[in-house]
Amino acid sequence: MAHDFLYPITGSFAMPAAENPTIVMIEAAYRQLGLNWRYVNCEVHPDKLGDAVRGARAMGWRGFNCSIPHKVAVIEHLDGLGASARIIGAVNTVVRRGDELIGENTDGQGFVRALREVDDPTGKTAVIFGAGGAARAVAVELALAGAAHICIVNRGRERGEELADLLVRHTPAVATYVPWVDAFRIPADTSLVVHATSVGLYPHVNETPDIDLDTLLSHMVVADGIHNPPLTNLLRAAKDRGCRVADGLGMLVSQGVIGVKHWTGMDADAGVMRQALLELRL
Ligand code: NDP
Repeated sequence: MAHDFLYPITGSFAMPAAENPTIVMIEAAYRQLGLNWRYVNCEVHPDKLGDAVRGARAMGWRGFNCSIPHKVAVIEHLDGLGASARIIGAVNTVVRRGDELIGENTDGQGFVRALREVDDPTGKTAVIFGAGGAARAVAVELALAGAAHICIVNRGRERGEELADLLVRHTPAVATYVPWVDAFRIPADTSLVVHATSVGLYPHVNETPDIDLDTLLSHMVVADGIHNPPLTNLLRAAKDRGCRVADGLGMLVSQGVIGVKHWTGMDADAGVMRQALLELRL
């Protein structure tokens, strides 16, 4: 039987396949879909990225993922970009379409897909904490999904202002930047609160973003990009105050569903993928 191979290109860490969340999640989807496909982690030195992409072409890969530090650098080796990847300026998923390798960014798409299980972002006022790669992808997709006003809250002024400016120039949303100093008080008219910094990520699970938690009101939806642990201090506080929440595991799984759709054309079962991740005890 002919086998299809699907390789990520990652550059940041080495981990046994059995413990790599993305491999576990994607291969669970392939099994459930009855596909005899593999998803393999390859470490690529930044100097060799062009060679790696040429290798992917030569071997007819259906696509691959890119993690830091390749998300921006890979663009010059591709044939084109999806609409949001072009705005975001970064690619985490590459898809072969015909003879071309096209870069997509599923970080923000996964976030919006997971969020829609809880609430529709259309017309909403959102506060986003962070202005790094994840925040950038989430902010652009939220704006393209119809969020009306987006406030970027970030420690570093330069990145925060740049992201707000990007949204104003390339999306229909109204966007502003507010410096993050002291415990941030969330305006009462906010409907969506998104945490997209690395505060609280394993192993620093006891850290909570510097937010005045008493300004979380029950009408707000609170989403956290941190997937490990899925229930962060922020989400626990939000639940205690009656907010609806969306966790980072849902974002990760939804990205996987979108990636599998790009590569195989098939709809993966998000429940099976989430369960595979939970069995890793994330
Ligand atoms: P980046 O390094 O690009 O950005 C980090 C962001 O966190 C910056 O905005 C930085 O602010 C902010 N930050 C870091 N430490 C602090 C702090 N102590 N207080 C306030 N702000 C802080 O990282 P990414 O954007 O790539 O990733 C951010 C998080 O999103 C990670 O935890 C990652 O795991 C998660 N993520 C989750 C995904 C999912 O599918 N669930 C997908 C992708 C990412 P400043 O600019 O001021 O330095």
